[in-house]
Amino acid sequence: MTPLTSFPEPYPDEDFRSLVYRYHIRSSNRTLTETNIDLFEKKSGKYSVFPTKLITFLRNLPIGHTYSLDYFISNHTWYGLIFAFMNDEKRKELTEAIKFGSENSFYMSVNGTNNLFSPTIRYCPLCLKEDSELYGESFIHRKHQINFMNYCHRHNVQLIDECSCCHTDLTNLSYTGLKRRPSCKNGHDQTNDYISISVGESEKLKIDVFNLFCFFNEQYRILIQ
Ligand SMILES: [Zn+2]
Ligand SMILES: [Zn+2]
Repeated sequence: MTPLTSFPEPYPDEDFRSLVYRYHIRSSNRTLTETNIDLFEKKSGKYSVFPTKLITFLRNLPIGHTYSLDYFISNHTWYGLIFAFMNDEKRKELTEAIKFGSENSFYMSVNGTNNLFSPTIRYCPLCLKEDSELYGESFIHRKHQINFMNYCHRHNVQLIDECSCCHTDLTNLSYTGLKRRPSCKNGHDQTNDYISISVGESEKLKIDVFNLFCFFNEQYRILIQ
């Protein structure tokens, strides 16, 4: 394949699915299948929870890029976290899936990770606001997708997956229309109406476990070679 002529610069803590989506809307591709062929040389019309075929992806990035396998895994996925709790055999399997795996891999599904990750895409209203002011667009934060952590660790406000006004899903289950603007498809702004969380004992416990997850994710990536 000919390498891509451009690829969006990743934002801090951007979920890998968001990166694929931002490439998709900048490309002239009509379908996600075309985008998946461009990036991963695989025929799939879906976003994967965890990316696979990253060796192919790196090969297809624009000539002269300085990204590495380790960069994407550690900054834009939770691979390190699930890696931390696997035995050697499973780790080998997972590493193969990251590098070369197909779209049918076990690791691609939310169910395959025992509901560790939210089945819907969640956003923090204040992060949506900050990101659109700072970067000119919103994106999906990786750290908002851990299922039990229902509030933003930075802003202490409840994460949302639907519009507080008309209750439409902000992102549907096939992940079309991942958020680039901080409003629902009916145009309701999501950044003003939010629920602040008062951090009591149970929230403190959540943030402790959450920080531990982040620690594991950071530590165990080094084993993926
Ligand atoms: Zn936030
Ligand atoms: Zn709405």
